[in-house]
Amino acid sequence: MWSPSARFSALALLAIVAPATIVAVLGYVSIRQWGASSELLYREQARDMATMAADKVETTLRRTEDAFLDRVQALLQSGAPLSGALDELLAGTPLIRRLYLIGPRGELVYPRAWRDGDQDIFGPLVSAGAVRRLAREGKREVIANNHVCLALLTRRGGEPVVAAFLRDTDTLRREILETTLGALESSTIIAVLDHEGRTVYSRAPIGDAPRLLSVGFREELPDWRLTVYQAPGASPRQAVRRQVMLFTGALGVLVVVIAAGIVATWRLMRRETEMARLKSDFVANVSHDLKTPLSVIRMFGETLEMGRVTDEGRRQEYYRVITREGERLSRLIDNVLDFSRIEGGRQTYSMTPTAVEPLIRATLEAFEYPLAQQGFKVAVSVAADLPEVTMDADAVQQALANLIDNAIKYSGDDRELTIDSRASAGWLVITVSDRGVGIAPEEQGKIFEKFYRVGRSDTQGRRGSGVGLALVRHIAEAHGGSVTVESAPGEGSRFSLRLPLGGS
Ligand code: ADP
Repeated sequence: MWSPSARFSALALLAIVAPATIVAVLGYVSIRQWGASSELLYREQARDMATMAADKVETTLRRTEDAFLDRVQALLQSGAPLSGALDELLAGTPLIRRLYLIGPRGELVYPRAWRDGDQDIFGPLVSAGAVRRLAREGKREVIANNHVCLALLTRRGGEPVVAAFLRDTDTLRREILETTLGALESSTIIAVLDHEGRTVYSRAPIGDAPRLLSVGFREELPDWRLTVYQAPGASPRQAVRRQVMLFTGALGVLVVVIAAGIVATWRLMRRETEMARLKSDFVANVSHDLKTPLSVIRMFGETLEMGRVTDEGRRQEYYRVITREGERLSRLIDNVLDFSRIEGGRQTYSMTPTAVEPLIRATLEAFEYPLAQQGFKVAVSVAADLPEVTMDADAVQQALANLIDNAIKYSGDDRELTIDSRASAGWLVITVSDRGVGIAPEEQGKIFEKFYRVGRSDTQGRRGSGVGLALVRHIAEAHGGSVTVESAPGEGSRFSLRLPLGGS
């Protein structure tokens, strides 16, 4: 069969470790799924945002350029002198750096002459064929890596004119890209790259931020692309990793707390079981201790009553046995009663100044008979100059009696009892030494615990309840003192009872 603690451990494993594992596995799976879907969502959102941003840039650019062309068209239609009006219009439109108007036969309508070799660039683009092409394919064309735009206008009288203009990249960056993209709310980095992948504009330094995706512009900026980079720390994967760490940490703490709880409960349970066992031993021991002297008293009493003992000497002997056993009974009952009073917190002590030597001798007197009968060599030495000490004389006597009783009980063949009393550094120290069985070092700390008996001591064939030394310790501490033991197995023990000389 399983022991209670093994059953407890199995139960704890089942009830706590198993659910914790399930929670951990479920948590891990759902975090993985969540990680995957949030990554997808993040990319989708970034793509939507990028498309929207590109649209916005194009619309703004188109609107600005259309407004400009409308005004040029209006001037052409009005038939008024072009030069001054167009110069003025250009000066007020920083986005357009240069403007050339070319007639259907390739002749320059505005300005009067080509500038800075522009003819080489614009000439072929706006040759006669350009008018036909524009008329065929739509009214606008953006060429030369987004720098040059062509548009078809008409003069008064219906004659077509090609307007070719050069965009100013700086103004485009400042007034179009900056104003539209800079205002977007997004944690990503948005940049515009030219046909060679160079950054024309970027909302924040790109550094080595990973590239998320890139979308193209349509008609207005056909060679450029809008690219989205992931800002440092904004990755959903990082957020998920943080969550995983948090989750793992919390789970770890939980497991540690649960494990600590299990260990604490298990230890408590073990202590309780041990205590229950000690208590039941105690009841058996006390009953046994009560029965033995009682049967001796009864037997000797009955013998005397029947008048069978005629010899006076033997009769006296019997009386002494009855008295000694009676005293032993009283001591035992006092011990148990005092112990239960102490346990219930009802014990009180009445302190009075007491002479030490008479107290020791009176205590020893009660053991005169067993000591003599068992052939003990008794040595008592009390320092001559001991002052009176404030104490509860009955309680200290009881403590001493317990120490002496033990010295007798736990002696082997070497029967010696030494009681020594002296003052030392403000303490009254009474030592009770024997040359008996001794106590193993690992037991020395436990013998003062209630109900504790070494090796459940009746194995040593000696009777006892296990409360004697607990009582001694309590009495010593109630006086502000202490009790200690020095002992070696087979060599005997020496108990020192220390009480403060000044009283407590
Ligand atoms: P008990 O009623 O068993 O004597 P105590 O509380 O007086 O209970 O003592 C606790 C245990 O300490 C004893 O069971 C015994 O094993 C050990 N012990 C006490 N005094 C001595 C001693 N003088 N020599 C050896 N062992 C001792």
